[in-house]
Amino acid sequence: MNQLIWFQRDLRLNDHTPIHRALSQNEPTLFAYFHDPQQAQGEANQVWLAASLSKLQTALQAKNADLLVAEGEFSQAFERVLTTYNVKNVLYHFELGEPYQTIQQQALAVCQRLKVRLTPFDQAWLPPESVLTQQGNPYGVYTPFSKKVFSMLDGVPKPEGEANWSNFQPVTLENHDRQLPSRLKAIANTDWAKPLISQWKVGEQAAINQATHFLTTHIQHYPERRDFPAINGTSQLSIHLHFGEISSTRLLESCRQAQANQPGHSEAIQSFIRQLIWREFSRYLLFFNPGLINQAYQSKFNQIDWPEPDDQVVAWQRGLTGVPIIDAGMRQLWHTGWMHNRVRMLVGSWLTKNLNQHWLVGQAWFENTLLDADIANNVMGWQWVAGCGVDAAPYFRLFNPVVQSEKFDPQGHYIRQWLPELAPLPNQLIHAPWDAAGKIKQQFPTLAANYPLHDPNLKQVRLDHQQRVQALKMMT
Ligand code: FAD
Repeated sequence: MNQLIWFQRDLRLNDHTPIHRALSQNEPTLFAYFHDPQQAQGEANQVWLAASLSKLQTALQAKNADLLVAEGEFSQAFERVLTTYNVKNVLYHFELGEPYQTIQQQALAVCQRLKVRLTPFDQAWLPPESVLTQQGNPYGVYTPFSKKVFSMLDGVPKPEGEANWSNFQPVTLENHDRQLPSRLKAIANTDWAKPLISQWKVGEQAAINQATHFLTTHIQHYPERRDFPAINGTSQLSIHLHFGEISSTRLLESCRQAQANQPGHSEAIQSFIRQLIWREFSRYLLFFNPGLINQAYQSKFNQIDWPEPDDQVVAWQRGLTGVPIIDAGMRQLWHTGWMHNRVRMLVGSWLTKNLNQHWLVGQAWFENTLLDADIANNVMGWQWVAGCGVDAAPYFRLFNPVVQSEKFDPQGHYIRQWLPELAPLPNQLIHAPWDAAGKIKQQFPTLAANYPLHDPNLKQVRLDHQQRVQALKMMT
């Protein structure tokens, strides 16, 4: 009897419960990833996926194992692998949201038909049903949820570390199953993908190194630096966490150890754990509300007739709105596949409130362009900025991008990094260049020819938005 470890967003060998369970059985074990191009996440995500699978393949080979990567329609590929390799038990970490829910349903149907055991494991810190209000209901607001989670941290299972490979029995793969499949390879080899991925270190070891480096070198400054996009003040662990190259339980354990070893930095580490709890919260919300992937948590938002995406959306995507902090964020996203959290909030507010677009328009763009595009975090982030989600940022609140830019990028370093065409502008013009459009056209004609200098009329936009808020209040 053979067992199969089915990888999804858990591309690591350590702290991996299915691997621990399988290796304790002393049965021949094979390892597989199924790539269904029709049910895959966005393109940037697939580029990281290809690189991460190569790293995983190398790590498995060092254990005398191998990684099977099957491409094609999921049910067919899954069935073929189960039958070809005489698999009787599949162990995996289940994932929330689409495309994973559909894929997992398909896996269940195949396993039931073939009479194969399918054993799911969770990756959450705590089972969602164990984190409830006094009335026994799921939480719908972050602060009480996080307080509850903080009070339960001792109950989070300890990471399991490395499994015992000493009695591992490999299964020999057919040659064609050992290659990175063609469509995944093709996307990884595109002209845009190579420079994108070359800026990052991919894989489990890179994730562990990054976490260690951040927790030993940067953590003490995290609370005061985390909102400034020009500073390297956050962990940049989101991509590793999304792909499961490091487990969130291991990261939590490392934080708690760091708190014990560096008591002077305990508060700073606590504020980092608070961000990790946002991640747990987004999964928790999706667990109890699977419809959130395309329906607003506050149901009246689902009745709004949103305008069709237009040229302004294209300008937003290209970083050509004319509002420098917004455009810098969108260019950072395009060039690196990542964007600073403060700027994600600003570009999200601009799209949903200034341009009055459906939050799903932004969610879809992020899904395709972010390397860390994560179903739960992305949906929660967009519903939060649009003001239709579970938490604070109400619909009537709209960020003033100029005030935010002056506050969080006072010297304009971030703007100049991503909008080099604005580099010659002095600090007092860089946040709102339209205020001096005439002067800029005279002094910097090349800049004026390449960057929009029209007045976005922030006052009028705010009034328009307030009218929409009034209309929304009338809705039941
Ligand atoms: P750090 O500040 O170092 O935080 C550590 C970890 O905590 C992050 O890696 C992340 O896993 C988690 N975290 C931090 N902030 C949040 C948050 N607000 N919500 C949920 N988890 C959080 N994050 C994603 O991982 N994938 C997404 O697709 C995504 N889409 C977003 C869309 C919008 C509109 C917004 C406003 C936020 C989105 N976020 C998303 C959350 C957040 O912006 C990123 O997690 C963060 O910028 C990643 O950088 P970091 O790892 O340096 O964060």
